Amino acid sequence: MVEKRNIVLISIDSLRADHCSFMGYEKITTPTIDKMARKGLFFENAIAASVPTAPSIFSSFTGEFPPIDSFSKKAESWRSLFATNITIAFQLRKLGYCTLSVHKHPWASKYFGFDKGFDYFSSLGDPTKAEKKEKMSEFRRKLDNILDFLTKKGESTPWESYYEEIIDVVTNAKRPYFLWVFLLDTHWPYLSTKRFSSHTSYVSLLYKYWKIGRKRMLYEKKEKIIIDAYDKSIRYADTFVKRLWEDLKDDDPIFIIHSDHGDGFGEHGFYYHYVPKLYEELIHVPLIIYNADVKGKIKNPISLRGMASSIIELIGEENIFPCKSFLNGSEDYVISKVFNDEKRVIAVRMRDWKFISGQKDKDELYNLKKDPYEQENVIEEHPDLVREVKDIIKSHIKHEEETRRIRIATSRLKNKIL
Ligand SMILES: [Zn+2]
Repeated sequence: MVEKRNIVLISIDSLRADHCSFMGYEKITTPTIDKMARKGLFFENAIAASVPTAPSIFSSFTGEFPPIDSFSKKAESWRSLFATNITIAFQLRKLGYCTLSVHKHPWASKYFGFDKGFDYFSSLGDPTKAEKKEKMSEFRRKLDNILDFLTKKGESTPWESYYEEIIDVVTNAKRPYFLWVFLLDTHWPYLSTKRFSSHTSYVSLLYKYWKIGRKRMLYEKKEKIIIDAYDKSIRYADTFVKRLWEDLKDDDPIFIIHSDHGDGFGEHGFYYHYVPKLYEELIHVPLIIYNADVKGKIKNPISLRGMASSIIELIGEENIFPCKSFLNGSEDYVISKVFNDEKRVIAVRMRDWKFISGQKDKDELYNLKKDPYEQENVIEEHPDLVREVKDIIKSHIKHEEETRRIRIATSRLKNKIL
């Protein structure tokens, strides 16, 4: 029997594709990941299936489009979603893997059921603190995160504070293993250790956050101090990858590195990622695979929804997930969506074009080749393309409704049996 490969999945929160140096960013933010990308496989147009964290990760772990219930912040809805779906950890455990996760992300915690299929899962168990934070003013939330960082507690604690736990768990695990680490260092308020933020004063950062918080959705100005702090936090996250890569060398694992979504910097009037929007700054993410039998560069759009099936394909097992693997990048378009209450916002992302419906009063079409920052809506100029894309959306919605009906019926049946 062929020995199964160890797998390390690193999710880096809020990391935009265009701020990674291997994706052409002007600053060197990801020197380690750059090396891995050069030697492995990287994707020029990797697209998150949704925003923010929870629906995006759910989709990557299950191969499902994010259902409407995945935009709820209720633990009950989440647990029920996980109860009725197979996750990548669940399937790998079934295939003989020891499944491990260490992270501090409250919205991807055990409390919401993200531990499904893991033998070892260490996260912030109860997101009460995060829920409280949702009700705080923006300024107070940032201050709270800074305190987390300084006291090395809570979600904004730097990766170094839980690194030992990762190494301990992996050292003691049986082989093969699947390790998932979810870094929050690149999440706002973009804190990083002194080494990378010596020129950034936390007080001036806080002042900028306060300014943005006051203006909410109307903030269009790019703030250099915030972008610098963000870039330094990326550089800091890259040092985690470097250290883990070195420390796990003997295990020879396959590395998969990606982000769950990006962040806005005022390009479309918002900062961070708490808006029901699907612009490139939110859905275009980095994705690389290193140390597997796949190499090169894929230019076609791929959806992170294919994560579970791709991992299964990498280890030569049969795909049981409801999405094709993205390893050959053979799709002409991918779909991303978010729900804003009952209202659906949906994007069809092609290589050079992007159509978005439900985001504004009017549908939007962008020529990404000429207009990568989606500033000029050219919907009136391409009626044939728009017709085609609308047909794609129509059949997607039909599929979405059928899936929802099946899910409700399955859950009723399950309740009757139990
Ligand atoms: Zn996130």
